[in-house]
Amino acid sequence: MTVNVGIIGATGAVGQRLIQLLDPHPDFAIEALTASGSSAGKTYREAAKWRIDAPVPDAVADTEVGETAPEAVPDDIDLVFSSLPSSVGEVVEPALCEAGYVVSSNSSNHRRADDVPLTIPEVNPDHLDLIEVQRDERGWDGALLKNPNCSTITMVPPLAALDDLAGVERVEVATLQAVSGAGYSGVSSTEIIDNAIPYIGREEGKMETETRKLLGTFDGAAVHWHEADISASCNRIPTIDGHLENVWADTAADVSPDEAGAAMTDYPSLDLPSSPDQLIEVFDEPDRPQPRLDRNLGEGMTVSVGGIQETTGGVQFNTLAHNTLRGAAGASVLNGELLLENGYL
Ligand code: NAP
Repeated sequence: MTVNVGIIGATGAVGQRLIQLLDPHPDFAIEALTASGSSAGKTYREAAKWRIDAPVPDAVADTEVGETAPEAVPDDIDLVFSSLPSSVGEVVEPALCEAGYVVSSNSSNHRRADDVPLTIPEVNPDHLDLIEVQRDERGWDGALLKNPNCSTITMVPPLAALDDLAGVERVEVATLQAVSGAGYSGVSSTEIIDNAIPYIGREEGKMETETRKLLGTFDGAAVHWHEADISASCNRIPTIDGHLENVWADTAADVSPDEAGAAMTDYPSLDLPSSPDQLIEVFDEPDRPQPRLDRNLGEGMTVSVGGIQETTGGVQFNTLAHNTLRGAAGASVLNGELLLENGYL
């Protein structure tokens, strides 16, 4: 069965990656593209300032971009991928769900809502069934599913492995985040070249809350957030793609660096089309992972870890993920694949 998909916010940093990942895809076919009013009516090639180092796919190059509104999404679309600014998605996404569409979204709106699943398919696929609660409460025929923020996705898989092994009680994290994480108009070259910016608006709060929801338990009615204390400090640096993070995790049980590394290496991936063979790649070399060398591992869907060391309360490690692939577009596509596998499409 081929699932017809639409992409709303198709011209931006994440939208372009969605197009790259969906052309081609074994189950999904792109049938509609939307963006802002200034792009509407143009062909995709005219509207998108294409930044990926491969040509604009022929399948979308001459497609007319629609204006983002529920009435602009054709009826025969089964799944909508959203990469809209959060303030726009906050209005448009629920309207689409009410109109019967299933939406897999990158935007931060609704991520913390009690009845909206926030999933990394390899980590908490069971949370998907929160959709049943959502449909009961909101009366929607459609559904809203969220993937987390890119910086959160970078640290949660190794933390999940550590939590299963020894119980995570406290996490401190400092990030070194790439400029593509701010979207195409987010950071100007004069701000970031020869510089680092020790502030990313609202990012720290997202890491602190989304991590607890992702690592929480779902009892069939509600997600009970994990009780770990999470404290984040977020920095923008002049890399193009790939967020690198330094993580300190205190654990309930004693854990050695070798045990932590083995648990991360063994943490299972899934059989979904976009899951990498190896979810977490653990490096022995102390100077890895590095953004330029390691962000494309597993076609940008593997999370890399290195520098695992013992601390007084647990372990310290460095983790890296490609922010617009594993951290955004790839995360949404994986969630779409999870929806399909579980009969929601
Ligand atoms: P972006 O490069 O700024 O792209 C935004 C997209 O939304 C463009 O297609 C833009 O269309 C469209 N848009 C803007 N204003 C609109 C409006 N008023 N009505 C309809 N469409 C509008 O942003 P991005 O980096 O792709 O991020 C998209 C979403 O994903 C954001 O919510 C972001 O927080 C989230 N996210 C991003 C990353 C990342 O690494 N970049 C990671 C995780 C999550 P035009 O081209 O016509 O302006």
